[in-house]
Amino acid sequence: MESGGNSLSSGPDGVKRKVSYFYDPEVGNYYYGQGHAMKPHRIRMTHALLAHYGLLQHMQVLKPTPAKDRDLCKFHADDYVDFLRAITPETQQDQLRQLKRFNVGEDCPVFDGLYSFCQTYAGGSVAGAVKLNQGGSDIALNWAGGLHHAKKCEASGFCYVNDIVLAILELLKVHERVLYVDIDIHHGDGVEEAFYTTDRVMTVSFHKFGDYFPGTGDIHDVGYDKGKYYSLNVPLDDGIDDESYQSLFKPIIGKVMEVYKPGAVILQCGADSLSGDRLGCFNLSIKGHAECVRFMRSFNVPLLLLGGGGYTIRNVARCWCYETGVALGIELDDKMPQHEYYEYFGPEYTLHVAPSNMENKNSRQLLEEIRAKLLDYLSKLQHAPSVQFQERPPDTELPEVDEDQDDGDKRWDPDSDMDSDDDWHRI
Ligand SMILES: [Zn+2]
Repeated sequence: MESGGNSLSSGPDGVKRKVSYFYDPEVGNYYYGQGHAMKPHRIRMTHALLAHYGLLQHMQVLKPTPAKDRDLCKFHADDYVDFLRAITPETQQDQLRQLKRFNVGEDCPVFDGLYSFCQTYAGGSVAGAVKLNQGGSDIALNWAGGLHHAKKCEASGFCYVNDIVLAILELLKVHERVLYVDIDIHHGDGVEEAFYTTDRVMTVSFHKFGDYFPGTGDIHDVGYDKGKYYSLNVPLDDGIDDESYQSLFKPIIGKVMEVYKPGAVILQCGADSLSGDRLGCFNLSIKGHAECVRFMRSFNVPLLLLGGGGYTIRNVARCWCYETGVALGIELDDKMPQHEYYEYFGPEYTLHVAPSNMENKNSRQLLEEIRAKLLDYLSKLQHAPSVQFQERPPDTELPEVDEDQDDGDKRWDPDSDMDSDDDWHRI
């Protein structure tokens, strides 16, 4: 039951993995509004880099089917989903009470195509989970997903529906235990809350804590009831660098993998933890950030990689492109190939950029205390819990469409690369 048809060959880290990449060419057209920090265009920039680095031909490129109402309602309240489907920029003035009730309007504005945007990014994450469940790939990628703040009946922090919770629910149909790891600079509160009282999902969030959105994620918050010690939080301070970050990430996640033995893992790769992020205050390099991907991949457990935050969009595209290379086991040239968004990447035109000289406020002593506390929590988990399955529930029906063809599960054909079609390149 545990493996769900997946049997990944163990071996050296360099062993190739079968990777499925979910991308909808429409996603870059959604626009939160003037001045808003969240820019779906970054997903299209990432895709362009992947194309020009030649990575698309090494993975299965799939256009996800949009999530349906009933898929979203597996986590979200019906009236909240009804509201998201119905609201438009034109009608919002008549819905002030509802807007307030569902926390839509400020950080989470109403924009054209909002509901189809939600269906698109959620569809990609659920399809990634289905793909892993079916053993169709070892790693699935959906850079449009990872919107970890959305709640059951409330939008929050630029997130409307929680694609991560929906993907975890899908993975739970096959796997007894699912691990969720979050390296966005913000606490993964929506996912933690959804699974706070269960031991079937373990959540581990590394984030800035202290006078910072969303305010939750204290080290002492560890889950409740059956879920006690299955929600872990790693609170960090400004300026954390690669070495400090990995001095926590590797021992903690290594221990989690040893004691929890998840059947599948979701890694939310929010890129606002990178140095120089418009909203962030950490000092990670892309290689430091990607080291989390490399480390997770080394366990040979079905892995769903998702996006998340990230507001200096040239660096977001750099990061997720490099991390796609890590997933594939392909090291990319630092010199960037020419492509339609090349001008964003000047003056260096390189994949990597140096972190800053900002102060690292995480002292060695503080890091050691955090590490010891987390390892202490993990020592309280004696063995991996198991559940009795009666019957495997049916997979969510999300017939995927190959980017180039409408006939399902076919390999990407580089000759029909959609990049040659210019109308979807610019907003
Ligand atoms: Zn974030």
